[in-house]
Amino acid sequence: MDPLDSLASRLSPGAATTDPGSLAEASWDMSPAAMLRWSRPGEPVRPLVLVRPASTEDVSEALRWAEETGTPVVTRGLGSGVCGGAVAGTGSLVLDVSSMGSVLAVDDASGVVEVQAGCRGTELEAALAPHGLTTGHYPQSIALSSVGGWIAAAGAGQASAGFGPVEDLVVGLTAVLADGTVVRLRPAPRSAAGPNLRRLLVGSEGTLAVITEAVLACAPLPTAWSWSAFSAGSFGPLVDLARQAVWGGVGATIVRGWDEADTALAFASLGHPGGAVAIFGFPDLVPGLEGRREALEGLAAGVGASTLDGGTYGGHWWEHRNDVSETYRLIMGPDRIFGPGVMVDSIEVAGLWRDVPALYDRIREALLGGAEAATCHLSHPYRSGASLYFSFLVHGADEYDAEHRLGETWRAAVRACHEVGGTMTHHHGVGTLKAPFMGEELGAGGLEMLRRIKAALDPAGVLNPGKLLP
Ligand SMILES: Cc1cc2nc3c(=O)[nH]c(=O)nc-3n(C[C@H](O)[C@H](O)[C@H](O)COP(=O)(O)OP(=O)(O)OC[C@H]3O[C@@H](n4cnc5c(N)ncnc54)[C@H](O)[C@@H]3O)c2cc1C
Repeated sequence: MDPLDSLASRLSPGAATTDPGSLAEASWDMSPAAMLRWSRPGEPVRPLVLVRPASTEDVSEALRWAEETGTPVVTRGLGSGVCGGAVAGTGSLVLDVSSMGSVLAVDDASGVVEVQAGCRGTELEAALAPHGLTTGHYPQSIALSSVGGWIAAAGAGQASAGFGPVEDLVVGLTAVLADGTVVRLRPAPRSAAGPNLRRLLVGSEGTLAVITEAVLACAPLPTAWSWSAFSAGSFGPLVDLARQAVWGGVGATIVRGWDEADTALAFASLGHPGGAVAIFGFPDLVPGLEGRREALEGLAAGVGASTLDGGTYGGHWWEHRNDVSETYRLIMGPDRIFGPGVMVDSIEVAGLWRDVPALYDRIREALLGGAEAATCHLSHPYRSGASLYFSFLVHGADEYDAEHRLGETWRAAVRACHEVGGTMTHHHGVGTLKAPFMGEELGAGGLEMLRRIKAALDPAGVLNPGKLLP
C-alpha cells in the first residue's frame, strides 16, 4: 500500500490531506522570515501531508507512522509563534492540532478546566466566563494562539504578574511521545513524585512530544479592573518601582512600564507630554484595594515618580492591549503598509533585577546599531527579576537587505543579552531563530542534557527537527 494511503487508513476519516493549498497554509508561523512569504510567493514549500487529528488516538497513530517511515513531524497550534517553531519543511508531516479545539470539562469546585490542546485562547475564555472563571493567560495573541502553543512555547500573558506564566497554570497534561505512547499526567495542584514531567513539556516546542490535552488552573474572572499609573523622566525609576511593588507585596495583577520611546507610541493619543509611564492593574475582587494603591503611591514618590490618572492610562492600555497583532500583520503581512524594505521584530529577554539596567542599555545600544528605532517595555516582574520586551524597526534598500539587517541586528542584541547574563527569551521561545544560540544560553552541559532528553524521548529524531536545538 502507498505509505500515504496507509497513514490515512489508520486515522479518522478525512484527517489526512495532501491538498497543496492546505499544505501551504499550514506550513508557516508569524516569524518575520515566514511572514515574508507574502512578498515572495515563488518560494517553494512542499510538506508531504497535513494531518488534522480528531483525537489523541489519531495523534498516536500519526506519530507511529512517522517514526516507522522516518518522516519529520511539525506540530502546529494556530501558527502565531514568532520564532519559526511551526514552520514546516519539504517532506514533513504537519500535525495541525487546532482540529482538537474543544473545552472538555469545567470543574467549578476545583476551578480547573480540561481542554484540548488546539483550543483558541479567546474561545477558552468565552467558555469559562459563564462559570465566573478565567485562566488569566492573556497573551497579546490570545485570539491567534492555542493552549498547546502556549505550553509548548512557554508563553506568558499580559497579566502574568498576578496569574502567573503558563507553567503555573498547567496542572495536568496528556501528550503523545514519538513512538505513539500516550502519557496522561493526572491533574494535581503540586506533586513531588519525581521530576515535574508536566513542566518538562513546557517550552519543548514540539520536539519532545505532542500535547493533546491540558488541565489548567483558573481564577475568579475579574468583572472590572482598577488602575494606578505613574510617570517619570526616564525608564530607570519605573523599573525600580516595579521591583519595589513586587517586593512590597502590593499584589498588582498587571505591571507594565514603558521607556520614553515606547511611552510615546503607547500614550501619544492621550496627549502624554513625554517621559516614561508605568501602570499597575488590580482586579476589582481583591481586598484592600485602596491600601494597595496608597502603598504604590508611597513607593512611587520614593523613586521620584508622579501619579497620573490611573483610570485614563490603564483604561487606554487595556482597550488597545492587543492592537499590536493587527499592526504587526499590516507591516509584515501582504499589505506591507510601510513598503518593501521595512521590517519590524521584537526580542523579549529576562534577567535578575541587578542586571535589568545593563540589559536595557546594552540591548538598546545593540539594536540601534542596525535599527532605525527601538522601544522597550517591562511587563513580567518576578521576585528575582523581570522581562524586557524590545520592539525594533529596520529599513533596508530592499526586502533582502532589510532581512539581512534584521538578522544582524537581532544577533547583536542576543550577544549583548548573553554578555550581561540575561536569558535571550522570556516567552516567545526558540524555534529556528534562536536555536543557534542555545549553546551560549544553556552552556555546554545544559545543551548536552537537553540533547540526551531529546535522544531518549525521540530516538529517531522525527519531532520538529531543527527547532529548539542547534
Ligand atoms: C502579535 C503577536 C503577539 C504575541 N504576544 C504574545 C504574548 O503576549 N505572550 C506570549 O507568550 N506569546 C506571544 N506571542 C507569540 C505566540 O502567540 C505564542 O508563542 C503562542 O503561545 C503560540 O501559540 P500557537 O498556538 O500559535 O503555536 P504555534 O505557533 O502553532 O506553535 C508554536 C510552537 O509550539 C509547538 N506546538 C504548538 N502546539 C503544540 C502541541 N499541541 N504540542 C506540541 N507542540 C506544539 C510548535 O511546534 C511550535 O514549535 C505573540 C505573537 C504575535 C504574532
